[in-house]
Amino acid sequence: MATATQAIAIDENISQFVAKPRPMLINGKWVSAASGKTFPTYNPATGEVLAQVAEGDKEDIDRAVAAARAAFDKGPWRDMTPSQRGRLMWKLADLLEKHAEKFAQLESLDQGKPITLARIADIPTSIDQLRYYAGWATKVEGNTIPISAHGGKFLAYTLREPVGVVGQIIPWNFPMIMATLKLGPALATGCTVVLKPAEQTPLTALMLGELIQEVGFPDGVVNIVPGYGETAGAALAAHPKVDKIAFTGSTEVGKLIVRAATGNLKKVSLELGGKSPNIVLQDAEIDSAIPGAANAIFFNQGQVCCAGSRLYIQDKEFDKVVDGVSQLASKIRIGPGLEPTSQMGPLVSEEQLQRVCGYLESGYSEGAKATVGGSREGDKGYFVKPTVLVNTNEKMKVVREEIFGPVVTAMPFKDLDELIAKANDTEYGLAAAVWTRDIKKAHRIAGELRAGTVWINCYGVLDSAMPFGGYKQSGWGREMGHEMLNLYTEVKSVCTPIS
Ligand code: NAP
Ligand code: MG
Repeated sequence: MATATQAIAIDENISQFVAKPRPMLINGKWVSAASGKTFPTYNPATGEVLAQVAEGDKEDIDRAVAAARAAFDKGPWRDMTPSQRGRLMWKLADLLEKHAEKFAQLESLDQGKPITLARIADIPTSIDQLRYYAGWATKVEGNTIPISAHGGKFLAYTLREPVGVVGQIIPWNFPMIMATLKLGPALATGCTVVLKPAEQTPLTALMLGELIQEVGFPDGVVNIVPGYGETAGAALAAHPKVDKIAFTGSTEVGKLIVRAATGNLKKVSLELGGKSPNIVLQDAEIDSAIPGAANAIFFNQGQVCCAGSRLYIQDKEFDKVVDGVSQLASKIRIGPGLEPTSQMGPLVSEEQLQRVCGYLESGYSEGAKATVGGSREGDKGYFVKPTVLVNTNEKMKVVREEIFGPVVTAMPFKDLDELIAKANDTEYGLAAAVWTRDIKKAHRIAGELRAGTVWINCYGVLDSAMPFGGYKQSGWGREMGHEMLNLYTEVKSVCTPIS
């Protein structure tokens, strides 16, 4: 592990921020949990407690939903023009940009990811999302509809109205990106929000709450309630006064959300897990495919829903690609997120460490072999070595289930029909990639893969403007791009005779 280098000096504001228990944001006020309880969030590089956070529960969710309801049903937010809403969002983006380094440091401390990654990816992406959605505020339009019924002398049009009070439940892998990706479309369309960050990584969302207050969003428009999924999350999902739940997390919890939502049939959108195939054909530019395949799985310690975790390589190039990815893996510098030389940080939690190591054991017991890595790194913090598993097949747990760590299974294939059947042989359908110089094959495969995003000769390119979401058990609905209108607005038809 890279222990020789010096960690960066932590911003003084962050030291102060984590020194006191962090309250929750309800109706424009920073308040303690109704129970008075707090819970710890940890620094995954050391396993030590980083901060205490107010532990939201059903009663706090009730308070937050009441505030969001009041802000939606009456009051200044409802009366604001789209342009005024957009301007507030734009200001929030500017303020986040001003404090970008602070947010990058806090993200790295709480989540574990390398500071360099938080600086170039997490925080700039969050700023970009806020700006992208700020632009949408003035562009939410309906249509005029030609009417034929009753002789057709009617004017009919549609309005796109905000869906209402939205509960948003997010995971820990990209805490700030998840928060802005959820808040952006809700605010642009005029909804109000109760956001529950993941228990492992609540801090940056709470610091974003401070900026939301500073910018001047009306009270109750954004409420942030940290807490546990089984209590706060479940109460939000089941709440009768919530109009919609937007959830990102595991497929298992996604199913619980759907069940909890049946009480008032609230709208539900889900961004869930994945086991995405990354396919290298023998005619690919192998020198690009190798780093592409490594990055597809090792980025963010492999804790990426669309990670390229099943690497299918046409048999002629199998050894070369496996060797290349393994060599790159062996050179990745593992270390605490706040050391600027670290290229891979720890996993987010002890639980995640145990889960990933459990999968490695399961793979070995079924005959898999690691060409590189293959175990925990060190005995302090939650580090796992980047790992390539071979001798794997579609019956093994390591190939079927989402590991959500830096572990890729590499498998050879002969012909395209066999490959497509194998690539689609999964309950997931979030993403996929194909590497080839043959344009016909590339588009044929892109068409046949059952996945929400297909990359050709690249991996993991995401953009605020490009829809993202899953086929099959990877989710319901598409976030980002104009597709978000379908998730955050209701369509109202208005019709009147004109003669
Ligand atoms: P998770 O356990 O499903 O947790 C996600 C969120 O749901 C957390 O805030 C969690 O609370 C909350 N939660 C847990 N149980 C709940 C319940 N019964 N009712 C309501 N909320 C509940 O997922 P994770 O392990 O944190 O994250 C990893 C998973 O997320 C992976 O499967 C990954 O693929 C998926 N993911 C998908 C995307 C995507 O866009 N498709 C993006 C990122 C991650 P706690 O705070 O208590 O954990
Ligand atoms: Mg969890």
